[in-house]
Amino acid sequence: MKVVQFQESGLDNLKVVETERPRLGSHDVLLQVMEAGVNPIDYYVVSSINVRPMPHVPGAEFAGVVVEVGDHVSDFKPGDRVAVYNRVFDGSCDMCLSSMEHLCRNGGIMSVVTNGGWAEYVAVPGKNLVKIPEIGWEIAASLPVSALTAYHALMSAGLRPGNVVAIFGASGNTGQFAVQLAKMMGAEVIAVTGKDWVRELGADYVVTADKAVDEIGKLTGGRMADVVIDPLGQSTWTASIGAVGRRGKWITFGQLTGGEVTLSISKLYSSEAWIIGSTGGTRKELSELAKLSPKLKVRVDKEYDMNDARNALDRLFSKQRNGRVMLRIGR
Ligand SMILES: [Zn+2]
Repeated sequence: MKVVQFQESGLDNLKVVETERPRLGSHDVLLQVMEAGVNPIDYYVVSSINVRPMPHVPGAEFAGVVVEVGDHVSDFKPGDRVAVYNRVFDGSCDMCLSSMEHLCRNGGIMSVVTNGGWAEYVAVPGKNLVKIPEIGWEIAASLPVSALTAYHALMSAGLRPGNVVAIFGASGNTGQFAVQLAKMMGAEVIAVTGKDWVRELGADYVVTADKAVDEIGKLTGGRMADVVIDPLGQSTWTASIGAVGRRGKWITFGQLTGGEVTLSISKLYSSEAWIIGSTGGTRKELSELAKLSPKLKVRVDKEYDMNDARNALDRLFSKQRNGRVMLRIGR
């Protein structure tokens, strides 16, 4: 079978190679991977962070069809369509026991602490799979990272119907889903992006980051947002923290443009604002997303095949990118 692999860190070292199909443990399921999402984590896996094993297969976000199941797997059968919950977790630590598998004290991210999904076939533990309905593969392969990260962040912020939510990076991987999910949860959505097409995903208003504080002020009569999502980091920090209203919540799961910012502590306490960190999501949230996935859309910028994985990673940070970058695998 073919996999996308590298022997040494570096985008130039990515190659498609022929390897043996993975061996199936008794609790594992063999998947034919159909599609993968391309995310910043994949870029960092290939270019900079320490990963294992080596040589290494990247791919943190993928979905496919069950081909074979281990002896002790009873919930899945060949032909099932599934998305992969991409956290390694022990199921027994205090975090796992409170359904926070993504914070497992003995865990990690698949594709960082294990091989990932940029492969024709992958063996994963049955407990990591979630069945999905007949949805497009570009949606299926957007559930485990993009949609789940957005959903968990909105849940962590305690978003309530009627809240005003401002979403920075609204046309990006997670942003597209944050817009749709916040709308489904009954919020009023202000998308902060230069891309007007996010209205098609349900955004009530679209404003650009440089005018965000003024525009959000006008739209809310000075109250500002109840929840602000900003995964962009340094470049948008001043605007996004400035958009938080009284008792409002600022929440992040990334720092794409840098992670060093200056905080006015007095503004924080005098408005009783909250700053919240969020990362990935829980298995339960992924299964909830799978159920509502027929209602989700994704705008795809470009789909690449396995031989073009390097270009897919480059495209991620291209100014021309206009939607998600995907990797087509089994089709
Ligand atoms: Zn655990």
